[in-house]
Amino acid sequence: MRELVDGLRKGLRTSRNSIGKFSVDHNAPETLAPLTEPADMIIVLSPCHPWEPIKVIEDWNEPIHCLICGDKFLV
Ligand SMILES: [Zn+2]
Repeated sequence: MRELVDGLRKGLRTSRNSIGKFSVDHNAPETLAPLTEPADMIIVLSPCHPWEPIKVIEDWNEPIHCLICGDKFLV
């Protein structure tokens, strides 16, 4: 039975219609987190080494470290 339920849960990841009744039975929260959501990346040029582009997430707000010298800079 256990294997059956596990199999069903895996299947449910893709079929949302029947997810409700099983997650209730099984105490499985619907953690269909945005894991698969692709982050938008942009290319940033560091001021010190602009020939070495760095890819960062589009809404990145933290300092970025240069890949060459490790200097921090903000976008
Ligand atoms: Zn640098």
